[in-house]
Amino acid sequence: MHIDIMTLFPDTVGDVLCESILGRAQERGYIRIETHQIRDYTKNKQKQVDDYPYGGGRGCVMQAQPLYDCWKHICEEAGKRVHTIYMSPCGKVFRQEDAKRLKNEYDRFIIVCGHYEGIDQRFIDACVDEEISIGDFVLTGGEIPAMAVADAVCRLVPGVLPDEECFTDESHWDGMLEYPQYSRPEEWEGRKVPEILLSGHHANIAKWRRKQSIIRTRLRRPDMYAKLKFETKQDKKLLREIEEELENGTEA
Ligand code: SAM
Repeated sequence: MHIDIMTLFPDTVGDVLCESILGRAQERGYIRIETHQIRDYTKNKQKQVDDYPYGGGRGCVMQAQPLYDCWKHICEEAGKRVHTIYMSPCGKVFRQEDAKRLKNEYDRFIIVCGHYEGIDQRFIDACVDEEISIGDFVLTGGEIPAMAVADAVCRLVPGVLPDEECFTDESHWDGMLEYPQYSRPEEWEGRKVPEILLSGHHANIAKWRRKQSIIRTRLRRPDMYAKLKFETKQDKKLLREIEEELENGTEA
């Protein structure tokens, strides 16, 4: 997987994505994250990338020319038109299934980070294949959203995490939230680890975790819970238990 990030802050983005798990994955050649300074493609002495918005209004808009020249350079170097994403609060909200889709459909893609009031629409019309938002709020720049998308996609690339269970067993993979996790010591500040997790009984632990996942999803994300289908005997039994416990206020 090769991700090109077009940004005004390549060092910040590069530093974050070169740390820890993604840093090691880059060293081992599973992924490659390349940052590109948009300012290097300006044609004025001041290396200015933005100008006032036509029609008036506050702030500045990033101009199409440096964005286009930077994008063209990446595509020429790749020898093809590379799938291009613009991080934007006007885009479709990013979900785990988009991370999966991007990982499955592309071996290389470009992420464009906007700044100021955003970027000239003509660059979007000419070069952008999809606009992605990381939520219904506005940040000052596209760097944090770009890092979030790059991280979510890269951790799905084989070899980046020790095995598939590291991501298939987590929140959002199968439309549910993860169960609570605990580590040592067994008791901390008077709070004990649930007894079942110390039992060594793998089947009962799996059942407890499944139940906690269902309860969490139901209480915290009714929108996700409404889409779930519980078809196995075990799940139906768990659901009955949960119903009873929630009714009596005794949920485990
Ligand atoms: N004027 C734009 C609007 O109202 O839609 C907001 C521009 S924002 C201040 C500057 C840049 O931050 C955007 O071009 C985009 O790249 C990035 N950005 C801000 N919020 C974002 C979000 N929720 N998701 C993705 N990118 C975002």
